[in-house]
Amino acid sequence: MPTTHDLLSSVFGFDAFRPGQNEIVDAVAAGRNTLAIMPTGGGKSLCFQLPALMREGVTVVISPLIALMRDQVRALREAGVEAGALTSGNTEEETSAVFEALDAGRLKLLYMAPERLASGSTLTLLRRIGTSLIAVDEAHCVSQWGHDFRPDYLRIGALRKTLGVPLAAFTATADEETRTEIIERLFDGAAPEVFLHGFDRPNIHLAFAVKDSPRKQILAFADARRGQPGIVYCGTRAKTESLAHALSESGHSACAYHGGMEADARRTVEGRFQTEDGLIVVATVAFGMGVDKPDIRWVAHADLPKSIEAYYQEIGRAGRDGAAAETLTLFGADDIRFRRGQIDESLAPPERRMADHGRLNALLGLAEALGCRRQRLLAFFGETSDPCGNCDMCDNAPVLFDGTEAVRKALSAILRTGESFGAGHLIDVLTGNETDKVRQRHHNNLPTFGVGREFDRREWQAIFRQMMGHDLVRPDPDRHGALRMTEPARPILRGEAEITLRRDTISKATGRTVVKMLVAEEDAPLLSALKAKRRALAETARVPAYVIFTDRTLIEMAEKRPQTLDEIARINGVGATKLDRYGQIFLSVVTGAEVDPVHPTRRKLAGKSEASVYDRLLEVQAELARGEAGIDKPMSCSASLLAKVATLRQADMGALSRIIGDRRAERFGPAFLQVLREA
Ligand code: ADP
Ligand code: ZN
Repeated sequence: MPTTHDLLSSVFGFDAFRPGQNEIVDAVAAGRNTLAIMPTGGGKSLCFQLPALMREGVTVVISPLIALMRDQVRALREAGVEAGALTSGNTEEETSAVFEALDAGRLKLLYMAPERLASGSTLTLLRRIGTSLIAVDEAHCVSQWGHDFRPDYLRIGALRKTLGVPLAAFTATADEETRTEIIERLFDGAAPEVFLHGFDRPNIHLAFAVKDSPRKQILAFADARRGQPGIVYCGTRAKTESLAHALSESGHSACAYHGGMEADARRTVEGRFQTEDGLIVVATVAFGMGVDKPDIRWVAHADLPKSIEAYYQEIGRAGRDGAAAETLTLFGADDIRFRRGQIDESLAPPERRMADHGRLNALLGLAEALGCRRQRLLAFFGETSDPCGNCDMCDNAPVLFDGTEAVRKALSAILRTGESFGAGHLIDVLTGNETDKVRQRHHNNLPTFGVGREFDRREWQAIFRQMMGHDLVRPDPDRHGALRMTEPARPILRGEAEITLRRDTISKATGRTVVKMLVAEEDAPLLSALKAKRRALAETARVPAYVIFTDRTLIEMAEKRPQTLDEIARINGVGATKLDRYGQIFLSVVTGAEVDPVHPTRRKLAGKSEASVYDRLLEVQAELARGEAGIDKPMSCSASLLAKVATLRQADMGALSRIIGDRRAERFGPAFLQVLREA
């Protein structure tokens, strides 16, 4: 029986588990009920796919999205695993192929949409085929309070009881309530083994920038990443269209995506994003849940997301393959007003609205952070960490100043004008600008009039934005966005607390211009060549590019430049099946030459320790082909015989004769044994 590590490398081509995977795989393979909470991109699918290969019978995978299921099935087949899906998107041939494989007892993984569970025949089917494990992807869909509730998920618990098999549930949603609900509904309250795994996504670069001219900022960000697939999230549908247009105008391949589009048009975009190499999708949040593309290289927010959870989920779609990915989130005072307004105007009960303000605050805190962004983000999820070295704040330390005095002046202006005005008028008062409105209200007679002349208008705007970001003031929904002071501001006003602000976002909105390259400059041409080959293969096979090899695998090839099949077999992501199918093709891209065809038997040994033994045996055999003296009748062993000899553990003459026969043993035996001893 192969071990988990054997399967990990031979089938999936990975040489190590990601954090947490190993323990989960062990628990699931051992047939224990499990609930695993892992961030998006953490590698959840492997945690049920690998155990499925180790267990007798069929693993049934319940997943909410057809596109996702089809992708996984495709990827598994590419890796040489028998998997199939029964979905409403199947063609008749696909469905009958699945049943054929089931009847022949070949299928290891059967993907199924939850809707199927409603039909009685499904239960009969799952019994008949010997279901031995149920895996539930996106298990939070069972939660009635979440955004993704799927009523049919409620049938899974009963299914588990009827079949009497273990269940493994997976989700990226970690909060306590959802977790409790999953346990209740899927496991009938009987506590499964719970794995809660870290939320850090260290390969994603985090950056925020104050909106200056947002369209230009997004275009610049995309320009610097030309040809790399990315997503731009926008707050409104109209903006997705205009920004997609602007990107296309400047030579990008880009399209819009939003909930108002016909289902067909949406599917077309999803399909293109999956298969095309460098498409940019400009989308509202409606885009994402159905996208299972591990090689999204960047995510930009043209508008501030609505909460820290939404932010985390949206940036989390980048870089799921583990290779470097970049993000940029734009924000400004208007965004804050817009998001606050959305919450205030929602019909949710007051406690809910308060919680929503809190989650927006957490995101604003991140946007206005004075130190490492990741530290702050992880702290929100209850994790402590060191400064990350992979965010804009770690790249360039921010310039800070003591903002206590400025904030006090602003608060005083707000209070003395009866908390009835927006930032524009308040800034007029602070800078001593005698407008008509100022004179009409006699605000030029206030003691605060003109006390803030040390900052200009633009600087004051940045201070007000930061005050909103720190939730010291909030737009009043009942008074057209007039700013009101909040409780946390009181100690600052009274001189009991101080506040530090950023100066660099005051003087000028800064955008990071250095772009991290995926590989060093000298490896870049090879990486493009490898990608081009991958694209050609993907097009012929009609699969997304990453199904052939992920970016990460190609990057490693470009850096390590394998010269032989054995070396290419050791690259992360090159499993046995893919090595067999694509090894030589990619090798010839790296070496720039036709690769001599390798015997299929030898190919199967590639990357293993037996490979060099096999090569030695072949040499020795060639030397002895006509006997010691070179005058005997030519004789040789077939490749498969040599492969058997190469894998021989306890080698002696007897064992050798049994494999290659007495006559060949007579000629090659001693030399072969010598090779085996030296190995
Ligand atoms: P999610 O947790 O979001 O479902 P996936 O299962 O789709 O994540 O995995 C994300 C990516 O990580 C995939 O491209 C997958 O092939 C890759 N991956 C998973 N496990 C490993 C591993 N042990 N080593 C390298 N890559 C891995
Ligand atoms: Zn950092």
